[in-house]
Amino acid sequence: MNTPNIRTGHGFDLHRLVEGRKLILGGVEIPHHLGLLGHSDADCLIHALADSILGALALPDIGHHFPDHDPSNLNLDSSIILTAVVEMAKDRGYTIGNIDLTIIAQRPKLGSYLPAIRTNLSSLLHIPEDCIGLKATTHEQIGSLGREEGIATHAVCLLFKN
Ligand code: MG
Repeated sequence: MNTPNIRTGHGFDLHRLVEGRKLILGGVEIPHHLGLLGHSDADCLIHALADSILGALALPDIGHHFPDHDPSNLNLDSSIILTAVVEMAKDRGYTIGNIDLTIIAQRPKLGSYLPAIRTNLSSLLHIPEDCIGLKATTHEQIGSLGREEGIATHAVCLLFKN
């Protein structure tokens, strides 16, 4: 049976906002009085993106590849996770075509940080910035995200074989 030349994937991640942690999204540190809680650097944008690529490859999620019970993953820079996942795609003959990301954060306002995140993702993924959709929205003060208890990200990606 042939495997497809084009694959899509979806990822979702959410981390709780707490005091005493840095807020890192897409590998960029964002000034805020709260940060995301997690075993790694808790970068929910990169986690959702990495899971979308793994999903496209029909591989298990990042928790399988980088388990939170492994002390070597403590405070891990999520850029390392993304780089490893891009290699997994490459090893299987796939190139990343485009990605589309939506961050859900009631606060802080993220608009002014999106260009820096996009530039960083472009270099981590080796794809042009015009192949990176990146949006931020609030949760209209509804529910846990609206109460600023956490930040979430949805991600989709397209992979293709040359
Ligand atoms: Mg996560």
